[in-house]
Amino acid sequence: MNRAFNFNPGPCGLPDTVMQKAQSEFLTYRDEQTSVMEISHRGASFMDVYERAEAALRRLMNISDEYAVLFLAGGATGCAASVPMNLIADEKQNAAYIVSGHWSRRAADEAAKFCQMEVVADTVDSNYTILPTNFSVAENATYLHYAANETIHGVEFFNPPSSSVPLVADMSSNILSQPININDYGVVYAGAQKNLGPTGITVIIVRKSLIKPRRQTPLVWDYSLQIKSESMANTPPTFPIYMMGLVLEWIEEQGGAVEMEKRRREKSELLYQCIDDEGFYNNPVAVDCRSQMNVPFFLADDSLTAEFLAGAEENHLIGLKGHAVLGGCRASLYNAMPLEGVRLLVEYMRDFAKRRG
Ligand SMILES: *Cc1c(COP(=O)(O)O)cnc(C)c1O
Repeated sequence: MNRAFNFNPGPCGLPDTVMQKAQSEFLTYRDEQTSVMEISHRGASFMDVYERAEAALRRLMNISDEYAVLFLAGGATGCAASVPMNLIADEKQNAAYIVSGHWSRRAADEAAKFCQMEVVADTVDSNYTILPTNFSVAENATYLHYAANETIHGVEFFNPPSSSVPLVADMSSNILSQPININDYGVVYAGAQKNLGPTGITVIIVRKSLIKPRRQTPLVWDYSLQIKSESMANTPPTFPIYMMGLVLEWIEEQGGAVEMEKRRREKSELLYQCIDDEGFYNNPVAVDCRSQMNVPFFLADDSLTAEFLAGAEENHLIGLKGHAVLGGCRASLYNAMPLEGVRLLVEYMRDFAKRRG
């Protein structure tokens, strides 16, 4: 088998055992005489797939009945728009946004179309290399939105910001990488393609009592309607839901969020250690908020970046090119990345620095 260590930011690598399981039942799923992607989303077989995926997520994140779990299409981008459409009945009401990088900026801009959006903190002056500390949220704000991990800038909140209004967290790139207390949140949402499965599906966990849809909310994005129809007000992304279910079962087998947190700490420490030691590489983020999921780094001499990336690929280390917004390199260390992959990356980085430094 010639599968590389995949550092792509999303869609990202999935565990080999998950891919093999999917392959083994690809043409005929269990008692069906056809593939899971070729059967009705309303039939008993698929309902079982759906319910097992939801049950696994509820167990892994300790989600109570006060919360609904939705599996919808539209990505985290769609969800950023759906939050104000479902939590704010009157567009004259406020919502507060922390801007700590590219994705929370986008979510704030999207919300501004649907409500009175107020940015309460913005770290753009630091090029998003720090997290905001002092900010205040208006008492009448409906919720406070933040991105728990900025996938491009590599800044992560290790604890939720303190807030007197309900918190809405974009956890696309760090969901289930550490235990959280779901009761601290009003809404948690995540595009699956970073840490939970393939692209095509968004997980939304929402405290039901907060939902106040407005008349104009499109049917596919109406949380109340989708809850009533178990995410099936229209055809849901069935194959991605099936794949995500396999990933969730894999996370459980590995030891759940506690184990994922241990692994991500080990992996990220190894990589930051190398970046800091060598002098040849640089990560500009303040040490206390360096992401354990996405590590952007830059070569002191940027003209060597292309050679660095090409050499990495020859060593079966793929997906290390940085996002166009920042350039340079980025290693994404999602749950499916084994420690072995990071060890090999660090070995390659040290060797490259020795040869070209
Ligand atoms: C990737 C990403 C998004 C956008 O997700 P899509 O599924 O492509 O819409 C939003 N927020 C964060 C934190 C991300 O990493």
